[in-house]
Amino acid sequence: MSNLVDRIPVARPWLGGNEESYVLDCVRSSWISSQGKYIGMFETAFAALAGARYAASCCNGTVALHLALLALGIGPGDEVIMPSLTYIATANAARYCGARPVFVDSEPDTWNMDPRLIKEAITERTRAVIPVHLYGQPCDMRTIDRVATAHGLKVLEDAAEAHGALCNGKPVGSLGDIAAFSFFGNKIITCGEGGMVTTDDESLWRKVVQLKSQGVDPERRYWFPIVGYNYRMTNIEAAIGLAQVEKAEFHMAERRRIASLYDRELTGIGELQLPTTRAWADNVFWMYSVVLRDECSVGRDAVIDRMAADGVETRPFFYPIHTLPPYAQENASTYLPVAEKLGARGMNLPTFSGMTEEQVVRVCTSLKSAIRGS
Ligand SMILES: *Cc1c(COP(=O)(O)O)cnc(C)c1O
Repeated sequence: MSNLVDRIPVARPWLGGNEESYVLDCVRSSWISSQGKYIGMFETAFAALAGARYAASCCNGTVALHLALLALGIGPGDEVIMPSLTYIATANAARYCGARPVFVDSEPDTWNMDPRLIKEAITERTRAVIPVHLYGQPCDMRTIDRVATAHGLKVLEDAAEAHGALCNGKPVGSLGDIAAFSFFGNKIITCGEGGMVTTDDESLWRKVVQLKSQGVDPERRYWFPIVGYNYRMTNIEAAIGLAQVEKAEFHMAERRRIASLYDRELTGIGELQLPTTRAWADNVFWMYSVVLRDECSVGRDAVIDRMAADGVETRPFFYPIHTLPPYAQENASTYLPVAEKLGARGMNLPTFSGMTEEQVVRVCTSLKSAIRGS
């Protein structure tokens, strides 16, 4: 029977606002490349959402991290502290700069980088720390900022998964020196592919703008004083992004609604660890996630397979990056027990604007059967 029921995807973009009319406007006016009015409009609107003075668009979130690290002056020989339990892009961006990612373990309940472990990872080569607001959960930025300030480290927020999340009432994207966002198709706000760097620092913003445009001199056309990149966003992508930001409140409310439905359905199940949100945090639940406790005798991958057979798509948590081939050798003696356990036992459940209560219930019914092997 199950294959007769609609498959529930883990994510799906909601494009019910002005996306269509703005894109049509790009096509009809022929402004389809990386110039055009939507780019500036999107940057201004997004800066407001992130609570930052400046925003610079770019072609994806990985590039946003790369630009941010370059603007901070990170280069060969530098070390950058980050969680191991994150998407590979966080580490790759440091590698692109010739820097070495230094991985720290996660908190067992919030699944974010444990801020108490940063200090012992600092060496004389450490230049920056990248807190990642994992799965929509904001990091403890107060503690991270305190450690960073004490040791002269720059703070780059990887906010790719947390548009609109708040830390002590302040939006992520405005809590460090600089921040990076992604607008990939499965993110809370999407352009298809796209990224944004936000900062309150005008000189960092100017560096990012120059670097993403081949390093061109802002005062002199076709004069290139430095080697830059073509990392620009198109007007079409910005048109979609602007329409998405116009509906930001709706998207945040949808995430909260879906998370509370999951809480209602899953609270009290002994086999499952549900998301923990600190009193000062506003989690935006990019993906509502669960971790299978030791009490659960069925393995995580078996649960994923069983749910797929029910037509429910889920995702495993990230493999901790220190265990992935490009980084495993230099981390051969690294043991991060919490990240490794979460990576093996965690899974992301479908979460998207427009998801119905009936769909959440179906996901939970499937999950409950799967963890009991029934
Ligand atoms: C999605 C994501 C990125 C990269 O974004 P892309 O737009 O896919 O390049 C970076 N960091 C994290 C934590 C992400 O989830």
